[in-house]
Amino acid sequence: MSGTPSQRNIPFSRPEIGQAEIDEVIAVLRSGWLTTGPKAREFEASFADLLGGGVITAAVNSATAGLHLALEALGIGPGDEVIVPVYTFTATAAVVCYLGATPVFVDIEEDSLNLDPGLLERAITPRTKAIIPVHFAGFACRMDEIIAIARKNNLFVVEDAAHALPTRYKGRLVGSLDSDAAVFSFYANKTMTTGEGGMIATRNPDIAKRCKIMRLHGIDQAAFERYYERYRTQEKPPWFYQVVAPGFKYNMTDLAAAIGIHQLKKINDFRSAREAIAQRYMAAFADLPLILPKTCDGPDCQHAWHLYAVRLDGERTSLPRDRFIDLLRADGIGSSVHFIPMFLHPFWRETFSLKTEDFPVADKAFQGVVSLPLFSAMKEDEIEAVIATVRKVCGEHGK
Ligand SMILES: *Cc1c(COP(=O)(O)O)cnc(C)c1O
Repeated sequence: MSGTPSQRNIPFSRPEIGQAEIDEVIAVLRSGWLTTGPKAREFEASFADLLGGGVITAAVNSATAGLHLALEALGIGPGDEVIVPVYTFTATAAVVCYLGATPVFVDIEEDSLNLDPGLLERAITPRTKAIIPVHFAGFACRMDEIIAIARKNNLFVVEDAAHALPTRYKGRLVGSLDSDAAVFSFYANKTMTTGEGGMIATRNPDIAKRCKIMRLHGIDQAAFERYYERYRTQEKPPWFYQVVAPGFKYNMTDLAAAIGIHQLKKINDFRSAREAIAQRYMAAFADLPLILPKTCDGPDCQHAWHLYAVRLDGERTSLPRDRFIDLLRADGIGSSVHFIPMFLHPFWRETFSLKTEDFPVADKAFQGVVSLPLFSAMKEDEIEAVIATVRKVCGEHGK
């Protein structure tokens, strides 16, 4: 029974944690080695296997940390500019500031809500060093165009792939494309989780090496290797380490990796489950005054379906977005807004003198956008309740 609306409580997202994750975490707790060690390495190796193409992986404690490390490894610093979409989570731009560099914001495309490659050239200056495309909701950016512009202008590309596991672009998984690095998030509501966590994927061994040093205090070898491997080979005493830079504390614990190892095995099943729900939403909402998310147009494309973000179409309904969210809430249905654009946050707006009118597409998208519940463990009655409520609320507020 789905219960009465007042009893119902469907979250916007809920992680799917199985017995295997629980058992593995308990095994780690009992093992005596809790921080970065064999589980983190196993997780990195399975992740690299999944991506293929000779990709090297580095596990970290968040995607924010991973983006920071990747930019640091590329030498981004004071005086440099990095292009980011204005329609993203604050972390995409914050990491640029961590390094003393300046984020330069560009508007997005109307259909995918991804960075508009057509706006890149005019945002590039002699100081520009990198571009950070964000694959909104798990639908890939137009990477060929972005990478071509980057190459022509001698810029790095670091993908914010927080939504993009497993996303395919022209048949290839995001993380194995021709950018300099891609960074995934395992935050609790992402397509897989380790509670908190992230993964850097790169084909460049120098970037991987620098990220691995900087994620753990700037030390040249991880503690596990120091205590176990060198001890066994007797090459150096186990207490020996060398600091080569003032590093960060961004390493992933074995406790988190224990969850990740099992979540990763289910990543394609999770995606299929979310895609099936997204398809049902598409069919059920086709006649409503909603702009539905952009979908793949061929077998080479794969949407990760991290989010199902609809937009109220102002031409066809007078229902304001905030009221829509309240009405969903009244029926026990959670939702979220992705994203509050950077120009509406005091820090970004004031520090970088952002003007709403410079970002017309992001501004319009934000006014109507709502992310509906979409997660692999959604139950049948939950899916039906979301569909029924969205249909009811939109139906009552048509123009
Ligand atoms: C979640 C998210 C991040 C940050 O991920 P963390 O793992 O929480 O640091 C970065 N960018 C985007 C687009 C995100 O959605």
